[in-house]
Amino acid sequence: MTISVVLDNEGMISNYVSVFSDISSIKNVEAQLVFLSQHDPLTELPNRLLLNDRLSHAIEKSVRNDEKLALLFMDLDGFKDINDTFGHPMGDKLLQQVSKRLQKYLRQGDTLARLGGDEFLLVVEKFTFVDELEQVSKKIISILSEPFEVQGNKLFVGVSIGISVCPDDGYDASTLIRNADSAMYRAKELGRNNHQFYTCELTKAVTERLALESELRNALERDEFQLYYQPQVELKSGRIIGAEALIRWQSPQRGMVPPNKFILLAEKGGLILSIGEWVMREACRQVIKWRDEGYFLQRISVNVSGLQIQRGRLAETVEQILSETGLEAACLDLEITEGVLMSNPKEVIEILQDLRRLGLSLAVDDFGTGYSSLSYLKRFPINTLKIDQAFIRDIPDAPNDEAIARAIIALGGSLQLDTLAEGVETEAQRDFLLQEGCEFAQGYLYSRPLAENDFIAFMHGNILAGTK
Ligand code: C2E
Ligand code: MG
Ligand code: MG
Repeated sequence: MTISVVLDNEGMISNYVSVFSDISSIKNVEAQLVFLSQHDPLTELPNRLLLNDRLSHAIEKSVRNDEKLALLFMDLDGFKDINDTFGHPMGDKLLQQVSKRLQKYLRQGDTLARLGGDEFLLVVEKFTFVDELEQVSKKIISILSEPFEVQGNKLFVGVSIGISVCPDDGYDASTLIRNADSAMYRAKELGRNNHQFYTCELTKAVTERLALESELRNALERDEFQLYYQPQVELKSGRIIGAEALIRWQSPQRGMVPPNKFILLAEKGGLILSIGEWVMREACRQVIKWRDEGYFLQRISVNVSGLQIQRGRLAETVEQILSETGLEAACLDLEITEGVLMSNPKEVIEILQDLRRLGLSLAVDDFGTGYSSLSYLKRFPINTLKIDQAFIRDIPDAPNDEAIARAIIALGGSLQLDTLAEGVETEAQRDFLLQEGCEFAQGYLYSRPLAENDFIAFMHGNILAGTK
């Protein structure tokens, strides 16, 4: 609406003239122009312009959050032949269908763009392992390999995919696109309908991880896992109060594999659920076996992964294992890392309560490395704080670490929780902990984690020392 003033001969206001006009169509055209300048008219996907803009934002975000981001550069195989044989209108219809199929498969938050011709680009944000990209690529190849139905013709295309990863292969949109493009060319050279990573290190890493994962799947069946036991002691007396069960993988190909090389992978594939159950059963069984042989271990600590808590119906499984093996719940201690507790505190509290009802005890592992909310900490039904070895390692030379260890011990004291220091290697560390009122410890000073028989020998030696 516009309003104008009408004045009379004396210059006084005599009238207002107001004019209404409907400008929706102009507004619509404006919006359409913006849309057209940022989208590909054929498929309505973002074009290069909008892609650059979104990609730059996504890169900034991923760098800020220390996350990974990937570009999948896709180029259709055999598209030119279809264009030449059936004409451009058919080619256009095919591109529209390709875009629809791809869009259907996307996760929310992924950006798909058409760069022109038969080139598409997919931005995958937030992924953990590169083999997730491999899965995405395989899926794309498989959904595009189904025939397309265009005006009564069955058309087949393939797709070659090149992948670049931020930050490994570049930090800005144009570098990443260029690198994904050159990886795509390699995919074409290697016979089309496949995907390639820009750096061969990544390709190797993926192959390696896939091999590891499939070996890991077999490891349980083939009985390649083993438990080591590390004594936990009372600081004042040096008396053994329990042991932590630590998994080892005796792989025929790789030799002894430490848990930090495979636990994360096992968590990703969900394999940790069956491995975790095996660990728990084996640990409980072992304590009973030692008992039968005349060695009484007060308590066994078992590490529990976050996935077991989220998905495992853990309380039921534990109850079942306890009754199967005949171990009393009071002899079992479950270790849960601080990060897992705090990731979803409200739900975790309930699960922990179910566990505590069985009569077992709970410890917070690696305490001090996560971001504990102190108000939650008070509400978790836990018994022990395990001070992470990072804070013990440099005592007595690191005043900051000392201050943190001291604070955790004090926190434990006021919340009426036991404190156990991990990674105690020297007498100086032990003395510091004793002086600060920490009650329990575990570490190389007392013993490394030991295989079943060595652990018996250790217990035996300890009993002899006690009777002296
Ligand atoms: P964690 O539960 O914090 O276990 C303590 C780790 O510190 C063990 O490493 C142990 O060998 C090591 N350690 C003990 N004393 C000392 C010391 O004095 N100095 C030093 N430098 N290190 C010491 P390990 O056995 O390699 O296990 C690593 C992690 O793998 C464990 O950390 C735990 O988070 C995970 N893990 C081990 N077994 C299992 C399992 O059965 N299930 C699950 N979910 N995780 C497990
Ligand atoms: Mg532990
Ligand atoms: Mg720990």
